[in-house]
Amino acid sequence: MDCLFCKIINKELPSGIVFENSIAVAIKDIYPKAPVHILIIPKKHIVSINQMEEADKELMGGLFLIAKQIAVKKKLNGYKLLFNVGRESGQIVDHLHLHLLGGKMDLEL
Ligand code: 5GP
Ligand code: ZN
Repeated sequence: MDCLFCKIINKELPSGIVFENSIAVAIKDIYPKAPVHILIIPKKHIVSINQMEEADKELMGGLFLIAKQIAVKKKLNGYKLLFNVGRESGQIVDHLHLHLLGGKMDLEL
C-alpha cells in the first residue's frame, strides 16, 4: 500500500520514532506547528475517524494513553490533542494520527 505512515511504521522510511509499542508509533512532525509537535500513529491503517469502527474503540483509547505518557515524559504543563478528519479540516495524510501539540503556540480553539 502506498501510504507514507505505513512505510514509517514498517521502517521503510527513516522518521526518528520517539515512541513505539504494539499498537502505535510516535514521531516528531516534520513541520512542527508548536514547540512540541508529535504524531501518534496506530499501526493499523485506518484512513480517518470517519473510517473508525466499533472494533477500534480500544485502540483509539490507547492512542490517548500514549499521548499522556509522552506529555508526562516531556513535562508538558498543557497540551492539545487533535485529529484532522478529511481534506477540509487540513488532513493531508490518509492514515489516522493524533497530533500532540505542546508549548506556546498560536493555535487557539
Ligand atoms: P494532517 O494534516 O494529515 O493531520 O497531518 C499530517 C502531518 O504530517 C502534518 O503536520 C505534516 O507536517 C506531517 N508530515 C508530513 N509528511 C511527514 C513526514 O514525512 N515525516 C514526518 N515526521 N511528518 C510528516
Ligand atoms: Zn497507512
